[in-house]
Amino acid sequence: MSSGACRNGNHRTATRPHGSGFRPSSFKPRLPPSPSHGPGDVRRSSPASLGGPFKDSDGVPGRVRVAVRLRPRNSEELVADADFADCVELQPEVKRLKLRKNNWDADTYEFDEVLTEYASQKRVYEVVAKPVVESVLDGYNGTVMTYGQTGTGKTFTLGRLGDEDTADRGIMVRAMEDILADVDLGSDSITVSYLQLYMETIQDLLDPINDNISIVEDPKTGDVSLPGATLVDIRDQQNFLELLRLGEAHRIAANTKLNTESSRSHAILMVHVKRSVAGEGAFSTENGNTSHLIKPLRPLVRKSKLVVVDLAGSERIHKSGSEGHTLEEAKSINLSLSALGKCINALAENSAHVPVRDSKLTRLLKDSFGGTARTSLIVTIGPSPRHRGETSSTILFGQRAMKVENMLKIKEEFDYKSLSRKLEIQLDKLIAENERLQKSFEGEIERINVESQSQISEVERNFAEALEKEKLKCQMEYMKSVKELEEKMVSNQTRNHRDVKRINEGIGASISSEVSEIRMLLNTEIARRKAAEDEINILGSQLAQYRHPEADGDTEIYRLRKNLEEEIRQKRKYEEEAIVLRSQLVQMNIEADQTRRCLERGDLGDAFSLNTRVDQSRNMQLRENGNGQKPSIAALSEQVGLHKILTLLESEDATIRIHAVKVVANLAAEEVNQAKIVEAGGLTSLLMLLRRYEDEMVRRVAAGAIANLAMNEVNQELIMVQGGIGLLSVTAANAEDPQTLRMVAGAIANLCGNDKLQMKLRTEGGIKALLGTVRCGHPDVLSQVARGIANFAKCESRLASQGIRSGRSLLIEEGALPWIVHNANDESAPIRRHIELALCHLAQHEVNAKDMVTGGALWELVRISRDCTREDIRNLARKTLSSSPTFRAELRRLRVDY
Ligand code: ADP
Ligand code: MG
Repeated sequence: MSSGACRNGNHRTATRPHGSGFRPSSFKPRLPPSPSHGPGDVRRSSPASLGGPFKDSDGVPGRVRVAVRLRPRNSEELVADADFADCVELQPEVKRLKLRKNNWDADTYEFDEVLTEYASQKRVYEVVAKPVVESVLDGYNGTVMTYGQTGTGKTFTLGRLGDEDTADRGIMVRAMEDILADVDLGSDSITVSYLQLYMETIQDLLDPINDNISIVEDPKTGDVSLPGATLVDIRDQQNFLELLRLGEAHRIAANTKLNTESSRSHAILMVHVKRSVAGEGAFSTENGNTSHLIKPLRPLVRKSKLVVVDLAGSERIHKSGSEGHTLEEAKSINLSLSALGKCINALAENSAHVPVRDSKLTRLLKDSFGGTARTSLIVTIGPSPRHRGETSSTILFGQRAMKVENMLKIKEEFDYKSLSRKLEIQLDKLIAENERLQKSFEGEIERINVESQSQISEVERNFAEALEKEKLKCQMEYMKSVKELEEKMVSNQTRNHRDVKRINEGIGASISSEVSEIRMLLNTEIARRKAAEDEINILGSQLAQYRHPEADGDTEIYRLRKNLEEEIRQKRKYEEEAIVLRSQLVQMNIEADQTRRCLERGDLGDAFSLNTRVDQSRNMQLRENGNGQKPSIAALSEQVGLHKILTLLESEDATIRIHAVKVVANLAAEEVNQAKIVEAGGLTSLLMLLRRYEDEMVRRVAAGAIANLAMNEVNQELIMVQGGIGLLSVTAANAEDPQTLRMVAGAIANLCGNDKLQMKLRTEGGIKALLGTVRCGHPDVLSQVARGIANFAKCESRLASQGIRSGRSLLIEEGALPWIVHNANDESAPIRRHIELALCHLAQHEVNAKDMVTGGALWELVRISRDCTREDIRNLARKTLSSSPTFRAELRRLRVDY
């Protein structure tokens, strides 16, 4: 445990106010405040201020603030002192420094600020110098000094320019940055002197020839000035840096010349700040009271100065003159520094006399060290235990500067929070790093800005050039096209002129010939007219002669002519009516005949003849039955003429139309007339009736007539060509009357008997239309359907056996098989027969066999082969059943014997 004691028995506190036995540190303690410094000025407080707040109430600022800064081990020390601990240990968190006496004992000192080897330049500036700079900007003088052994970092702390690393910038550079940022160079001014003090001689570092500058003191104000020193106006930071470089260069050069070391000289930078401020004036009233009501503004100039002193090395000069100095020189070299020490000691010992005048340095600092000035002292120390003695004396100098009477020398050991220290170290590193980054970042931004600006202007230039080129090109093109148009216009105009001329000439010639021609014609016409007029005149006179006696006869002739015309019209009408009546009569005769025959047969058939058996036999029958009527129809046809009858089909009169279509239907029932009817356009007219007239009666009769015409193969094709199947299908679809359906089914059934029409019938919906007619269930219709199916199957069978057709029956494909099977055993003989025939035809082709088996047709075939009354059909069915492998297999499977 180390021993420790409080010097003078008092503990010092950082916030301790002045007074109560505490004597402020000042070279001229009783000096009144400079008039240039307004007493009402408020000092800026800085959180990083060295000590407590200034106490301005008595106009006496605080004492000298002292910070200790430890330099990191240099490369030499890292090697030489590798096995030894530093002679000092810093405790920045409690602002203490421990100076080792030996391995087990150390003295502890307290400072206003303890700056470790890791403290960044920025932090050093902020805690030590910034409050002084702010004070200067507020109008107070201020001093920042470094004191310490050579090589401990005085110049590093104050004078570094930060050329290589901006984070290294020292107090001088940073102070000027802050000053420049705060002042207004329009109204304020900053001037700088840079001096060297060596062997009590002041040399101008800005003008080295000027090497004996004297100090002048204003006896009234006590202000110190150096009238012989160069004063340079500072306009910007760059300007200042150049000045510092110049001063440094001169310092090195001067020391070389004098064969001295810079460590033996003091470098002094004096920054004079002059600021214009709007001051307040107070007027005295009659009774001597100061009125604060009237305060006219008075312009004031506030002067202050910042003195930055890089002191000579504090190490003692050996009196032996080992460094090549004489004793006198040695005394002189150290005079200023020892005078400063003495003054500080005097102040520390509370002595009445402070030997300010003993040296140039103390005289120079008279108005800016302590007193009304704010003063900061940085004592720099090295870590090496080899220099413990020098380090110790430096520390004691610093302690005295902090008014020694209050200094505390703490003997007890403390347990320190190493974590806190580490953090502080890290923080300082980060601060320095941050500053470096910020600077380089700013530089980078500046560079990018410049680059992008140049790029933008380049792009703009290119764009403008391209635009200009484009514009020129457009203008050229425009001019060119205008020129072309003008040329075209001119050539057109000349051509037009030529054309007009030529046309005029041509027209002129033709016109004159035409004119003479017309003139001739006119003359001829005039002559003719004249002759005609003469003739008219002659006739007129002749008429006049005849007119009078025959006037009544003329009217009579006219009347008779009218009557005659009327008679002719009447006659025609009667003739037409006669035709109709005659045709009606014929019609009625035929109908009566058929009715009679039907009654005789006990059957109630339609008046129309229709082939319900086979075409041929029907025709025969019709001929036989029609024999009696033949003369009548033939006579009618002969009398009226077929053409006339056909035109009546288109008569406006519906009755005439109906009779006419009936006559045509009856004529069509006779084979002998069919060709004539078709030839005269009767088929087309009949189809037109289907297309045009909605009257079902007309459609029914027309369909009957078409059915009769459809008995002929040629006509069948004609019907198909003229779209007859479509018309018949539509008629079938719309028909309600079973007789209409019967006629349509009859017509389609006849078409089904034509080999060539098979496919077309299917594609144009004929088979579907035929099957659709069964919906009415009338036996006559079913009979026609069965006949159609039989005809179709017969044709298919024929074509298949001729090898013209192959594949499944179209009837099966169109879905006729179920109906066929269902009606195969119909009680009506004609239906049954047709279907039996159809089944036999279908069964003859193996390709239909499967469908017939699944559709149940096989049983019908078996039935037909056994029960059919017609032997030929029976045999056909039997033959078919035994020849089809499919049927045979199925019958075997069903164990039906065959
Ligand atoms: P002085 O002015 O007290 O004689 P210098 O400022 O010339 O000392 O410093 C001596 C050497 O130590 C220089 O190389 C300097 O860069 C270095 N130095 C001093 N202080 C520091 C520090 N805090 N950190 C790093 N290097 C330092
Ligand atoms: Mg130095």
